[in-house]
Amino acid sequence: MTSLYYDLHIHSCLSPCGDDDMTPANLVGMAYVKGLDVIAVTDHNSCRNCPAALKHGQEYGVIVIPGMELCTSEEVHVLCYFPTLEDALDFDSYVYEHLLPIKNREKIFGKQQILNENDEETGRVEKLLISATDISFDHVYDLVTKYHGIMCPAHLDKSSTSLLSNLGFVPPDSRFTCVEVHDLGMLHALKKANPYLNACSILSSSDAHYLADIHEPNHQIFPKSRALDDILHAIAKQQIPNPL
Ligand SMILES: [Zn+2]
Ligand SMILES: [Zn+2]
Repeated sequence: MTSLYYDLHIHSCLSPCGDDDMTPANLVGMAYVKGLDVIAVTDHNSCRNCPAALKHGQEYGVIVIPGMELCTSEEVHVLCYFPTLEDALDFDSYVYEHLLPIKNREKIFGKQQILNENDEETGRVEKLLISATDISFDHVYDLVTKYHGIMCPAHLDKSSTSLLSNLGFVPPDSRFTCVEVHDLGMLHALKKANPYLNACSILSSSDAHYLADIHEPNHQIFPKSRALDDILHAIAKQQIPNPL
């Protein structure tokens, strides 16, 4: 078993709300400086800065999980983590097709920059990434599993765009096994009100949109090895499910 300091919810400059300084090179570099072992790049409804981030991760010795913060049709944010870049990019293509056809307006929402491994812009995403998709929450588990990934409802304690704020409860037929809670001081009350959470692995990450907000090495996971499969297993506290 190994212990890894993590921050598994970080936005890059691809998210319109992400600071332009959140380039893949800068955010991985900041994770390295802070002493984090593993991070996840989780832009809104897109994985397109993951290729560059993974490349920088290899250079810095920081493990980068390719991820996404999916917005469901109910506007519930769900973090999705994948064992390979290929799985993440396949999922990205599926999600983009299911994103509402609203164009980004840069002056209002910000730029949606795709950067290559040299931190050079190679394009901008046209549809507004902070829109909802037409994917309902109850389809996310099977969908993400199909791409070999795991789902983790984001910022459960947030008063908007969370599972509890938008659905009001944990659906009884849920199958997810990990959740993100921003303020761990809320955990006891959350578990009391939602006993489902007692069986879940609890993560707490930064949801950083600015370099300075990336977490200090405060929280750890304990995977069998540094391999992405083992890390996802440790996050989800279960075997990665077989695809459908
Ligand atoms: Zn969110
Ligand atoms: Zn976020």
